[in-house]
Amino acid sequence: MMQSVRAEISLGALVHNFNVVKSKVPESKIISVVKANAYGHGLVQVAKALNDSDAYAVARIEEALALRSAGITKPIILLEGFFNEDDVPVLVANNLTVALHCTELLEQIERAEVPSPINAWLKLNTGMHRLGVNPDEAEAFYARMEKCPNIAKPIGIISHLCCADEPKKDEYTRRQIGIFNDFASRHPGPTALANSAGIFTWPDSHTQWVRPGIVLYGVSPYEDKTGEELGLKPVMTLKSNIIAKRHIKKGDKVGYGCYYEAPYDTNIGIVAMGYGDGYPRQVPNGTPVLINNRIVGTAGHVCMDMMFIDLGPDSTDQVGDEVVLWGEGLPVEKIASILGTIPYELVIKLTNRVNFVYK
Ligand SMILES: *Cc1c(COP(=O)(O)O)cnc(C)c1O
Repeated sequence: MMQSVRAEISLGALVHNFNVVKSKVPESKIISVVKANAYGHGLVQVAKALNDSDAYAVARIEEALALRSAGITKPIILLEGFFNEDDVPVLVANNLTVALHCTELLEQIERAEVPSPINAWLKLNTGMHRLGVNPDEAEAFYARMEKCPNIAKPIGIISHLCCADEPKKDEYTRRQIGIFNDFASRHPGPTALANSAGIFTWPDSHTQWVRPGIVLYGVSPYEDKTGEELGLKPVMTLKSNIIAKRHIKKGDKVGYGCYYEAPYDTNIGIVAMGYGDGYPRQVPNGTPVLINNRIVGTAGHVCMDMMFIDLGPDSTDQVGDEVVLWGEGLPVEKIASILGTIPYELVIKLTNRVNFVYK
């Protein structure tokens, strides 16, 4: 059976991107961020291909357990800590590391009865105001972690940059890095601050550990640059095929709501790809699609299972021809910018109807 709607995942590109990161931060250890099914690329396959990682980071305990079940033995950091007191013994049993970001979590660890101490990082709020202990409370929090026999020593320190990808907000990033390095300098133990944008733009944020996410997948964290411009290779290429082709006349309307009206006599390709596969329904007419080495535009609203592309009046494309929706030859950053979103949102949203092919 031929797989039509598919996401080809280049494990070679993934390793290439990892090595690009490594070359930017030769002194740091790398925590590969594989949350949300490795940004939609496949949790276990990605983690295994990135076996030079020094650790992994995920957002949910289920993701960490899936990695352990798959035989991953490196440290796994739960970036958001844990959500239920019942999870504390699970952390110990599976040797998971937690980011401790509030008193409630610390209390739950203090009163737990565990056979061995839990690996923990103190999550410092340096200005994002999402998770983390405020700087003026951090010394006391750290001291309390130090005192807790259920917490392994040394304690790590972790924080997150919220504007490292935006040059116009460099003052804010500089302040975040300053707060972090000030606190970290007064304590032993591992430190981790930089995300992808920190790694590429902010050498001062390169602490002992770094946490790349999006760049591993070959995608740029910056609005005005593609991954390719950063020396990265796209890992995911979303593909399908033309399943029908039809000729239409100038003025003919296409699809639900007659959202496209042909400005000339032309040929329309019907592609087996829809919002039921995770391709965004909101794309405007003319959103680029790659076919037979040229870019053509979408036409009409994307349907659940299909979409239309305007192949042009002189099209010699045929039923069965391959179409690239994003990836190699057509950066996902481009589609994201047309939609006014970030590429992260596109790659994580493919549905389980899409066949994943690892190369
Ligand atoms: C998602 C995430 C990262 C990775 O961010 P990228 O922008 O994808 O590099 C790093 N740290 C934390 C806490 C995160 O939530």
